[in-house]
Amino acid sequence: MSHKEVQDDYMATEEHDFKMMEVRCPVCDSDNTKVTQRIMDIPHFPQLWFFNMICSDCNFKHNDFINLSFKDPVRYIYHAENKEDYTSKIIRAANGTIIFPQIGAMIEPGPNADGFVNNIEGILHDIRGKTLFLLGDADSDEEREKIRNYVNLLDSYIQDNLPIDIVVEDPFGNSSIIPADPSKLETITLSPEEAERLKTGFIVFEKAKDKID
Ligand SMILES: [Zn+2]
Repeated sequence: MSHKEVQDDYMATEEHDFKMMEVRCPVCDSDNTKVTQRIMDIPHFPQLWFFNMICSDCNFKHNDFINLSFKDPVRYIYHAENKEDYTSKIIRAANGTIIFPQIGAMIEPGPNADGFVNNIEGILHDIRGKTLFLLGDADSDEEREKIRNYVNLLDSYIQDNLPIDIVVEDPFGNSSIIPADPSKLETITLSPEEAERLKTGFIVFEKAKDKID
């Protein structure tokens, strides 16, 4: 693709694919990897660099986002109250933490954490699916009962769009929320001390650090 074509593509679409980049696999060090990167333009929102890597040798996969314009450690809180609020989009980079205080649910970063974009309803559906999956491992009626009760709780939020807060924290400022109603979004810049307490799931970074040591 010529530079001119890339430019035209850039103007015409919200997402544009870029040329492959050569990166070694952080797990097996193979150079038999495929990396796709693209810039996502969302109106009224900072540009995101989306990064997807697959290793053909060990099957390691990694998705992540980098916010191209906002780099401070940040906490977002969205106060969802109705069906429209539940359509708010959550952009979760691999190092982002998602917390639903009212239902005691948390999605934490870890070595296998992936970046994703989903709305609040979709994330609750995912949590529901993962909770149901636990039924297979439950080894008492009491435990199964607990799991079913939790699924019922999730269902009531998903079906009735009950008021719920979603908290998104990211020490690198890569995660964010695209609010259905901007007046219901709180953006809090974290102090360096608060940011340090957040877990990160930076597998590529860790591997690079090992090499430096
Ligand atoms: Zn590999």
